[in-house]
Amino acid sequence: MPGGYHNRFIDIDLARETFDIGEADRELQDRFLGGKGLGLALLCTIDRSEDPLDPGNPLIFLTGPLTGSTITTSNRSCVVTRSPLTGGFLDSHAGGHSGTGIKLSGYDYAVIRGKASSPVYLKISRDGAQFSGASSLWGKGCFETESTLKQKNPKGTVMSVGPAGENLVRYACINTELYRQYGRGGAGAVMGSKNLKAVVFEGDEKVRYHDAARFRGLSKQVTKDIVAHPVRELRVEYGTTMWVRKGHEEGGFLPTSNWRKGRFDGYENITSEVYTKDFQWQAKGCHNCVIQCSKLARYDGKEIEGPEYETAAYLGSNCELDDPKDLLIANELCDDLGLDSISTGGNISFIMEAAERGLLSPEENEWIKFGSGEAIHRLIKMIAAREGIGNTMAEGTRKASKQVGNNSEYFAMQIAGMELSGVNPMGCYSHALALTTSDFASHTRVWTATDEMAGNLDFDMLPRYIAKQQDEKNVKNCVIVCDFFMLPHDRLAPMIEAATGLPTTTEGMFDIGERIHSLARLYNLRTGRTHKDDTLPERMFTEPILSNMMKGRVIDRDFFEGQLQEYYKLRGWDEEGKPMKETLERLNVEKF
Ligand code: SF4
Repeated sequence: MPGGYHNRFIDIDLARETFDIGEADRELQDRFLGGKGLGLALLCTIDRSEDPLDPGNPLIFLTGPLTGSTITTSNRSCVVTRSPLTGGFLDSHAGGHSGTGIKLSGYDYAVIRGKASSPVYLKISRDGAQFSGASSLWGKGCFETESTLKQKNPKGTVMSVGPAGENLVRYACINTELYRQYGRGGAGAVMGSKNLKAVVFEGDEKVRYHDAARFRGLSKQVTKDIVAHPVRELRVEYGTTMWVRKGHEEGGFLPTSNWRKGRFDGYENITSEVYTKDFQWQAKGCHNCVIQCSKLARYDGKEIEGPEYETAAYLGSNCELDDPKDLLIANELCDDLGLDSISTGGNISFIMEAAERGLLSPEENEWIKFGSGEAIHRLIKMIAAREGIGNTMAEGTRKASKQVGNNSEYFAMQIAGMELSGVNPMGCYSHALALTTSDFASHTRVWTATDEMAGNLDFDMLPRYIAKQQDEKNVKNCVIVCDFFMLPHDRLAPMIEAATGLPTTTEGMFDIGERIHSLARLYNLRTGRTHKDDTLPERMFTEPILSNMMKGRVIDRDFFEGQLQEYYKLRGWDEEGKPMKETLERLNVEKF
């Protein structure tokens, strides 16, 4: 048996209140390692859903071979499911103590199927799963849910949904450790659709490492190298929010005014410096991580983690909100109600532009204003409760724009259903191509902004550059190490080998990354994605690009299609973006 894994999983049926404990499939471990890849392989095999909110859609919590170890940045975990926002594949990752919590319960992963007849919470430990009624928690926010369950299970790690998940908001998240989220794509709605309020993982089950002495040595060395790295210092001091200043001052791609601009006049008010000075920011990190990129802010006698960059960009500049306290309150509301702050921000900026254009009711056109903290807070609550215009917004901008009508698809900034994230692709063309070709349109797939800003990219190299980055990131998401510090494959391979005893090479890791990308594509095509979805929001084919390699030019449709075809070819996909038979055989996924 390889080290680093428990080589056990638990499979839970909520409808029958039963569970099975099984032995991990060695062959799947070899081909997919863990995390994203393993979750995808399982999803392809067991997903029986007509719709992502059907009981047939499984929710899978996963770890990787390094999870729970001393390797810094490795104590994360992911959930895999079919996304209610895109209808396709979703892997969503969380930090904090989540990975360690799952691993200590004695399993590499937990599959949750079916739907409970009334609200329940699950406790998962070495002995199996316990089912408990959760009607008294239904309707409660994530903060109260977590603290109630923590009192009952002080050693447990709690994952819960808030009212947004219960109300099937398509971008509801799963919350853990109060301020950590499996954020993107609506895993919280899948959990809500199962009447599952929370999962508590508990235990003290350690894994064995194949070559413990070598593993310890590699772990110490990587910690030493990260501590000495200048990026770590920046992360500790400024957190991810440093990208607000960078995006405005250097990149010209800070998402602003529903992606219309790349610079925000009020950006200074939502920078790391302001939160450090006025909100006594204090560095905090995930379990066992020396980077400590997260930040604890204080206001009105409260403590809350945030805002990190994506929240500052999407609830802040993209909604023209420059009041740092209002931004923190918006952040806190999203965390407690269980909403992905990125998609929430994207939906709010969309509806603000709709109001600005006079497309809503006279009353809504009046109170929904860019820059209004009050409007943002009210809209967040309305989305979570599916109340009034919030019910439209709870569907995500793709569907909401159909309800708003009047050609509002033009400014619904989504790709294949997912609101865009990361930097503003209107100021960073490589990011636009990366989002379009990824399994879903999130910055968590690839980060091209640093290279484009540095002038390292040209148009010809882009398809290959993006494919390579995606493959690299895919493997990191299987091992589940944090992408805020890029541990390259040649550093990861010896660690995986020492942990598991499985021969691991850099080339082999890229093969795994490529395998995952084509299999995710296959799953997405099966669940309804088509070549037509591989496109950009209409605004991007009409208005000039704001900064960097495409600055001042409007993206030409034929040029973009040419880049897509080049990318498909590199992947071994046909002209419609379908992986060819020989590609699937080469990647050893033809049986899925
Ligand atoms: S870099 Fe930040 S998010 Fe990543 S593991 Fe460390 S503390 Fe967590």
